[in-house]
Amino acid sequence: MPPRRRKHDRASLVCVTGDVQAPPKPLLLDLEPEAWPADDARPYRRQQLLSAVFETGVASLDEATSLPKAWRQALAETYALSPFQAVDRVPSWDGSVRYLLTLRDGRQTEAVYMPYDNRKTVCISSMVGCPAGCRFCATGALGFGRNLSRGEIVAQLLVIAQHEGLAPKDLRNVVLMGMGEALLNYEEAVAAIRRMIDPEALDMSPRRITLSTVGLPARIRRLAGEGLNLTLAVSLHAPDEETRQAIIPTAHAHSIDDIMDSLALWQERTNRRVTFEYTMLKGVNDHDWQAAKLAARLRGLRAHVNLIPFNDWANSGFESSSRTRIDAFKRRIESAGVSVSVRFSRGQDAGGACGQLSLQTPTEPLEAR
Ligand code: SF4
Repeated sequence: MPPRRRKHDRASLVCVTGDVQAPPKPLLLDLEPEAWPADDARPYRRQQLLSAVFETGVASLDEATSLPKAWRQALAETYALSPFQAVDRVPSWDGSVRYLLTLRDGRQTEAVYMPYDNRKTVCISSMVGCPAGCRFCATGALGFGRNLSRGEIVAQLLVIAQHEGLAPKDLRNVVLMGMGEALLNYEEAVAAIRRMIDPEALDMSPRRITLSTVGLPARIRRLAGEGLNLTLAVSLHAPDEETRQAIIPTAHAHSIDDIMDSLALWQERTNRRVTFEYTMLKGVNDHDWQAAKLAARLRGLRAHVNLIPFNDWANSGFESSSRTRIDAFKRRIESAGVSVSVRFSRGQDAGGACGQLSLQTPTEPLEAR
């Protein structure tokens, strides 16, 4: 089925009065569901509005035709539904689609839609750019723009559903692995996750939500106390301090021992297996001794390792390990009894693969939306 195209007017997202640009309207998605507006005489209107946004997936308040016209017009005068003034869609040959999203302040962030066999997964961002600056990551090279609000994070799911012709609840798997270090935008990222699992909103299973972090021990310990049984993916990328500090600047502030200690607490509290992301960089972190050290690091933890062939980007200065080297590295870890797989990223030709998000692939904008 071709993507269901919805129209929304770019200009309608910015209020202009004469020459003076008014501040943007509050974003409805930034409000907790219980704080969504209701008609005093008809409290069920709040439920109808939630249903229009999270079940039907309307792109504008005007499309919420289950609500009386006068009421939705009044709502639209007070609130904005979409935080995006433009949406550029870049399809990949492999079926995944990269979304370049321009926010109301003109800043841009990205999300990726990945339709696997029976699973529809979206990779979303928690920031514009990223302050972590991992050397092998195109997003890190952009630097930090700003944090996204909870509504701006959740809206990425909604806008992808709209453009892919899906209901929001068809998107059952979410990875917070796009732009940004989610645990450095802690309150907004956790609030967005709560919105995703809220039965009144997206009603997702927390187990199908993966939060990726570069490994911030204090934040991991805090997250362990949130009562969220989500999946935690830790970007380890090296088992030894020297290599890790060379490729991940924030590693200077947090030892691997401290990260592992925080993960033991996370596992004790959540009983969830921890995923480790390991980008395979030729001659940097792909030696046999590093495989052995990685396996030793993971002893005692229920863990799975994803080996990710490096996805190249302009002037990265890195090369991916060869397939032969990756296989040898994998065997070494497996032989130590650690669960491991090789994960090939999707969307490489669209610049949407892991570590490639950099706002720079030539895009063809959709019609003004
Ligand atoms: S790998 Fe993740 S944490 Fe590191 S710079 Fe890229 S987006 Fe930020």
